[in-house]
Amino acid sequence: MEKKPLLAESDYYYRVEFRACKDDAWYATRVSLEGETLKVKYFNFPDEYDNAFRASEFGDLEKFQEFGERFRTLSKQAQDSDCRSLAEGVWVCACQCFGDDDLRYYDAVVDGVQHGKHYWEAGKETCFCTFILFWLQGPNAGNLTATTIQDICMVQLERQLDPVVASFLEMARRKIERPAKLVVMTGKIGLLKEQKKICV
Ligand SMILES: [Zn+2]
Repeated sequence: MEKKPLLAESDYYYRVEFRACKDDAWYATRVSLEGETLKVKYFNFPDEYDNAFRASEFGDLEKFQEFGERFRTLSKQAQDSDCRSLAEGVWVCACQCFGDDDLRYYDAVVDGVQHGKHYWEAGKETCFCTFILFWLQGPNAGNLTATTIQDICMVQLERQLDPVVASFLEMARRKIERPAKLVVMTGKIGLLKEQKKICV
């Protein structure tokens, strides 16, 4: 009989947070490398939402860097006991509802906390505070909204790039650098010819 994993699939594989190109929102994704193509699969989304990126598709260093910044370690859902850590100025990733079944996560900064009561029941803490968020990204960028701790995730500050993403980015970087080296070499040859001319 086939052994079933103890943890849900999401715990094992959807460990990379990716800022999708279509709406610039953050999603839990699973990444895999097929040759020189990076496949990005979104948690809880059907296969037609998958993305594929080729290592050769980044024309310049700027586009490549912008793409690299779209990946990070998965943010962690804030627990009620994390309330004290969510002080003014803390960087978070929070969800906003844009209609039925349209829940998207964007980055924000805690602008202030309206402290409410905390209740304990059977050792479990429940936070009733209100968090004022200043949105850094998304349709509400630049605006303040109020939310509860259930809608907040803690951004993981130590940037540990997933090994699959790191391999792909290394491949893509080499493809950009190679033509640049050729230009430098051609330039040097030109310079040598010039110097030769001067010597003669
Ligand atoms: Zn609280």
